[in-house]
Amino acid sequence: MPEMIRNIAIIAHVDHGKTTLVDAMLKQSGIFRENQVITERVMDSNDIEKERGITILAKNLSVHHNGYKINIVDTPGHADFGGEVERVLKMVDSVLLLVDAFDGPMPQTRFVLKKSLDLGIKPIVVINKIDRPGARPDEVVNLVFDLFCELNANEEQLDFPIVYSSAKLGFAKRELSDESSNLEPLFEMIQKRVAPPVVNPDAPFQMLVTSIDYNEYIGRIATGKIFNGRVKAGETIVAIDRQGKQTRGRISKLLGYEGLKQMEMAEASAGDIVTIAGFEEVGIGETLASAADPQPLPYVAIDEPTLSMN
Ligand code: GDP
Repeated sequence: MPEMIRNIAIIAHVDHGKTTLVDAMLKQSGIFRENQVITERVMDSNDIEKERGITILAKNLSVHHNGYKINIVDTPGHADFGGEVERVLKMVDSVLLLVDAFDGPMPQTRFVLKKSLDLGIKPIVVINKIDRPGARPDEVVNLVFDLFCELNANEEQLDFPIVYSSAKLGFAKRELSDESSNLEPLFEMIQKRVAPPVVNPDAPFQMLVTSIDYNEYIGRIATGKIFNGRVKAGETIVAIDRQGKQTRGRISKLLGYEGLKQMEMAEASAGDIVTIAGFEEVGIGETLASAADPQPLPYVAIDEPTLSMN
């Protein structure tokens, strides 16, 4: 159900606490990165599991909380990945802009924030490391506001919600004077302020391929958001390239994110972010669509990084 899905990205300058925050979110939802690594190793020693291809370490991840599935997609933080950032941001309905309460906004914050604002995204601002001695959260909020203004944020974007956090100590709050011992206020903010994906589960299946990877056991894998309809493992569908050429194929694996891991799914539906194996030719920007009614999704024109080099 799309109403119960939230697709977000976390934007942060290196060291501002993205990994720590994601770990704390997973932990509050009962998933530990340490345990996950152990499971990985156990599974890696098992050839059958290997063959099934379910031990791929995900770039993206998901957190289940209060009945919601929060997909957190990975964003490259550098200008070198210009085109990729836009493709990734097309999958999400909001971003958490994570800023160190001591350091304030930094160059990498600025680059991805600009892309997000240009795409009309309304970010949630998370002021992290408020436990740090010398932290100056109020001043940093003002600096973030100035940055939004500089980047031509519109009025809605400027009215950003703020959460204060210590990812390290595992708590978040709406106001600096609040008492809090967990990340619940952050989860609530994500549930309330991030719109559910705008998709139609009853239309014919369509997924936009956002990234391509290769796995030695299952071959080429395509990841992206399902914009419409439903899809099943083993189903025959159609890949439509950017010239409109259609290639039929069978989904050999349908994978979804569970915590830090990609797991096989029997079925997935609109709004979710999934990975599909079985198409050895498929590329970024192409559509995977229902065989009964194959319609391409609009390709998002992107300024490729090679063109902007000078
Ligand atoms: P990333 O590069 O954004 O993924 O940053 P990390 O999550 O790796 O964090 C960078 C450093 O900041 C690590 O040493 C963390 O322990 C520390 N850190 C992260 N969050 C907090 C926090 O809320 N408070 C304090 N004091 N340190 C933090």
